[in-house]
Amino acid sequence: MYDLIIIGGGPAASAAGVYAARKKIKTLLVAESFGGQSIVSQDIQNWIGTPSISGYDLAQSFETHLRAQEDIEIETGELIKTVSKEGDVFVAMTEGGKRYETKTVLITTGGRRRKLGVKGEKEFDGKGVAYCSICDAPLFGGKVVAVVGGGNAGLEAVIDLLPYATKIYLLQRSGALKGDAVTQERIMQDPKVEVIFNATTLEIIGDSFVNELVYVDTTTNGFDKLTTRETHHLDVQGVFIEIGSLPNSELVKDVAATTPYGEIEVDVYGKTSMQGIWAAGDVTNLKYKQNNIAAGDAIRAVLNIYDYLMYNK
Ligand SMILES: Cc1cc2nc3c(=O)[nH]c(=O)nc-3n(C[C@H](O)[C@H](O)[C@H](O)COP(=O)(O)OP(=O)(O)OC[C@H]3O[C@@H](n4cnc5c(N)ncnc54)[C@H](O)[C@@H]3O)c2cc1C
Repeated sequence: MYDLIIIGGGPAASAAGVYAARKKIKTLLVAESFGGQSIVSQDIQNWIGTPSISGYDLAQSFETHLRAQEDIEIETGELIKTVSKEGDVFVAMTEGGKRYETKTVLITTGGRRRKLGVKGEKEFDGKGVAYCSICDAPLFGGKVVAVVGGGNAGLEAVIDLLPYATKIYLLQRSGALKGDAVTQERIMQDPKVEVIFNATTLEIIGDSFVNELVYVDTTTNGFDKLTTRETHHLDVQGVFIEIGSLPNSELVKDVAATTPYGEIEVDVYGKTSMQGIWAAGDVTNLKYKQNNIAAGDAIRAVLNIYDYLMYNK
């Protein structure tokens, strides 16, 4: 029986693990893999205290810091399939059928970005194709970029890119933008921004780096096959894909409340609707998904769990 099981292997889990160990909470950390989503990033420039580091090196430093702690058990390569409650105890079951029992749980399973699924997207990931505008906008200084997605994520990406890019195409699949009216107004008025409606992205092209995006105008030639419609080419050096993200919250869907988007609902301490279960990082409904924020929120949750364990012995 553990006092705490941390589920995840990104910045939130790593930070939580270090703090839990230092508080001498009897903890097990279960991670499918280490590092988190930004592991694929070439250059992370906003991890505080570190002006520039690759996602891979940052992931390694998380793991090294965590493994330097004496008082924590770590299981990697294990996916937790479900978390349930049996009496006063929480049970975490792995995909392979292992069973762990604990008094409290911290969910830090993060999320996964929605992909467009077009030709060139995977090939140029990190070579002009980006999924995080707060993280990567400064890398596109003086460049022409396309943002795919006209919801709030797309609009916010345009705002993030305005100080850097020389021209921004915003491609929206339907005939209207979906995000906040005030933000829409602001970007529509900026001469750098060109909104293209009814645009379905077909392909991202480049050599060593992205240099072109191909889309079809879905209003041309009727609504039959994409291939019969008018094709357009944009000369761009960057493509931000901002069509949303999916939280990895399926494991607690029967025990903790989630939003209609599947994000786990938490209070300021990371407490979920189920007493004894906390969540932190990208899997929650809190705004602004970033490494520093995930780590900080997870630390606050662990300190709150420590207090809870002290008063619920
Ligand atoms: C391409 C890209 C670049 C980014 N660049 C930056 C950047 O430069 N700066 C910045 O601050 N942020 C950046 N971000 C955002 C940042 O990566 C996230 O905000 C951060 O990783 C969230 O951390 P997390 O620990 O909550 O979740 P995640 O990083 O998503 O980690 C979740 C972890 O949980 C594990 N896991 C998931 N489900 C299970 C399960 N059921 N059982 C066991 N383990 C499980 C996963 O293997 C993973 O290790 C970037 C994101 C992307 C996609």
